[in-house]
Amino acid sequence: MTVYPHLLAPLDLGQVTLKNRVLMGSMHTGLEETGDWNRVAEFYATRARGGVGLMVTGGMAPNREGGVFPGAAGLFTARDIENHRQVTDRVHQAGGRIAMQILHAGRYAYGPDCVSASAVKSPISPFAPKELDEDGIEKQIADIVTAAVRAKEAGYDGVEVMGSEGYFLNQFLVTHTNRRNDRWGGPYENRIRLPVEVVARVRAAVGPDFIVIYRISLIDLIPNGQTWDEVVTLARAIEGAGASLLNTGIGWHEARVPTIATSVPRAAFAHLTGRLRQVVGIPVITSNRINTPEVGEALLADGMADMVSMARPFLADPDFVAKAASGRAREIAPCIACNQACLDHTFSGKLTSCLVNPRACHETVLSYAPTGAPKRLAVVGAGPAGMMCAMVAAQRGHKVVLFDKAGALGGQLNLARQVPGKEEFHGLVDWFTHEVPRLGVDVRLGRAVEVADLAGFDSVVVATGVSPRDPGIPGQARALGYIDVLKGAKVGPRVAVIGAGGIGFDVAEFLVAGGHSATLHPEEWRREWGVGDPALTPGGLAVPAPEPPARQVWLLQRKAEKPGRGLGKTTGWIHRAALQAKGVKMLGGVSYDRITDEGLWITRDGKAELLAVDDVVLCAGQLPERGLYDRLIAAGIEAHVIGGADVAAELDAKRAIDQGARLAASL
Ligand code: NAP
Ligand code: SF4
Repeated sequence: MTVYPHLLAPLDLGQVTLKNRVLMGSMHTGLEETGDWNRVAEFYATRARGGVGLMVTGGMAPNREGGVFPGAAGLFTARDIENHRQVTDRVHQAGGRIAMQILHAGRYAYGPDCVSASAVKSPISPFAPKELDEDGIEKQIADIVTAAVRAKEAGYDGVEVMGSEGYFLNQFLVTHTNRRNDRWGGPYENRIRLPVEVVARVRAAVGPDFIVIYRISLIDLIPNGQTWDEVVTLARAIEGAGASLLNTGIGWHEARVPTIATSVPRAAFAHLTGRLRQVVGIPVITSNRINTPEVGEALLADGMADMVSMARPFLADPDFVAKAASGRAREIAPCIACNQACLDHTFSGKLTSCLVNPRACHETVLSYAPTGAPKRLAVVGAGPAGMMCAMVAAQRGHKVVLFDKAGALGGQLNLARQVPGKEEFHGLVDWFTHEVPRLGVDVRLGRAVEVADLAGFDSVVVATGVSPRDPGIPGQARALGYIDVLKGAKVGPRVAVIGAGGIGFDVAEFLVAGGHSATLHPEEWRREWGVGDPALTPGGLAVPAPEPPARQVWLLQRKAEKPGRGLGKTTGWIHRAALQAKGVKMLGGVSYDRITDEGLWITRDGKAELLAVDDVVLCAGQLPERGLYDRLIAAGIEAHVIGGADVAAELDAKRAIDQGARLAASL
């Protein structure tokens, strides 16, 4: 008897029966654009082998003007169909099912030919869309239908019509972007005409035996968004038009509310899917910040949905379902919702991967195949780089001993998890703590090792991490280090944080939160970010009502630019907004003169000023701890250096884990 009876129950859609209730949601990986279709096929086949019930591909453009960016992949030619057939064949051979998402970006298309309901430019794009005329709208519908027919020809089990997140179909639904007064605009009955027409014509063209998913926006989170009554009207009309499943989308891309970042509470929006489920007859899928089988199971058991969509968790672990089904849930590599190797890559034009699984999207190029020549390896330092290196090396058949002077695994991850909104790091540390010994690594903690201790190994990997940089400010002895603060040192009510990098921001969030995390209290989190009820306010936007800060904090840097520029591409704005909401004063262009009993003396714009603070916290960056490596090399012992001990600048867990995995794969 499984512990996940709801999650693993089959779902009869009429057209087909899915083997379980888990959907791998659509993700743009960038793989299709590489032209390496073996690699694309292997990405999906790996996940099919891992047991997921149904997968949805990344968004495919129905035409050039609807592509998310110029050159976005789509089914335009016979060759494209052949390429996609490689994917569907391999998925089917692996016992999986796959639907192709049709994504028309409308005014979110990053190019001058973009089109929409009205010529209303999006705040996140430099391109104003062209308003479509009647023929133009008909062309878009015809192109979407053609894409669906080609998807069927390419062997897909179905299509997902993307109607949420503020893309083309969503743009017709709200007066914010639809200013028309013809039969496609004006009253809601007219504004829903396009998506309903699209679904009806797709269904007519593909026939009854093909899955048609419609992704509906449940809460737009923009001004003048849809009301709940409107969402229900649309959902029923889409059902009537022949959709098999309703998948749910949360928030437009331009919304100023985080919807999938790590600080969003788990399943924060699933109650809306539960509400929708009461009023439609077809199965509904819930999504956003669901990353464990327990959360998925609870949502289904509570009647919130018929299926659970997880996207990024399948980058972190393609075997998510197989592990859950075979009683090995603790082995599931957790998605920590950091976006660092997935969405941040996508938005920088890089191939998607995953912080905890560097093989994601690199299945054909990064192999952890068994070694033909097992070695005795010592890994020194049990932070992310060292743990990953030790695990992969052991998995490949090397005999690995992992040393750390601390009494627990995790290194700096143990600091990150103290930060409110970063609770997912607990799961990451737990996973490493479970997996490192399970994979056969001999763990020796509480022991600082030196060259003499390492002489008997064939090779030594030095992953000794970083130490805080000393900024050399006069009076600095009065200041606190960030490690002490995150470990619970007493801090006064007025604090200056020196350094506004990743750690400075984390420490500022820690200090204003005062030991409390809204991420663990969904109601409070919704109040803080102004997430209301779409039944009460259109689009579900309310006035943000953050809790008062626990302290007054100044966050400082020397560079004369906006603090936080180096933070994650898709998450930096969230950190800045969270601190602004707590009244943190973020100052750039500062030089630090001295720290006295009165506070911190700085010079800004040529003027000296006193920040009358009780405490100063140093977050001035890191320096590599590579002394052991240098001593090993001097002693003629084969050694490698990875993670922060290699390069401390711009170090993060993504680079550390990636470097650890790649070194282990090459040994
Ligand atoms: P960092 O991002 O390199 O930031 C160091 C900060 O210290 C900068 O604001 C820098 O700004 C300042 N600084 C540098 N030298 C200084 C000096 N001599 N005196 C005074 N200030 C100085 O390093 P970090 O904050 O220690 O973070 C380490 C890494 O961990 C980061 O690179 C980051 O990627 C990662 N991390 C990431 C996250 C995340 O959310 N993704 C969170 C935590 C940590 P000025 O030079 O302008 O003063
Ligand atoms: Fe999840 Fe981060 Fe991996 Fe993206 S990079 S899949 S958010 S763990």
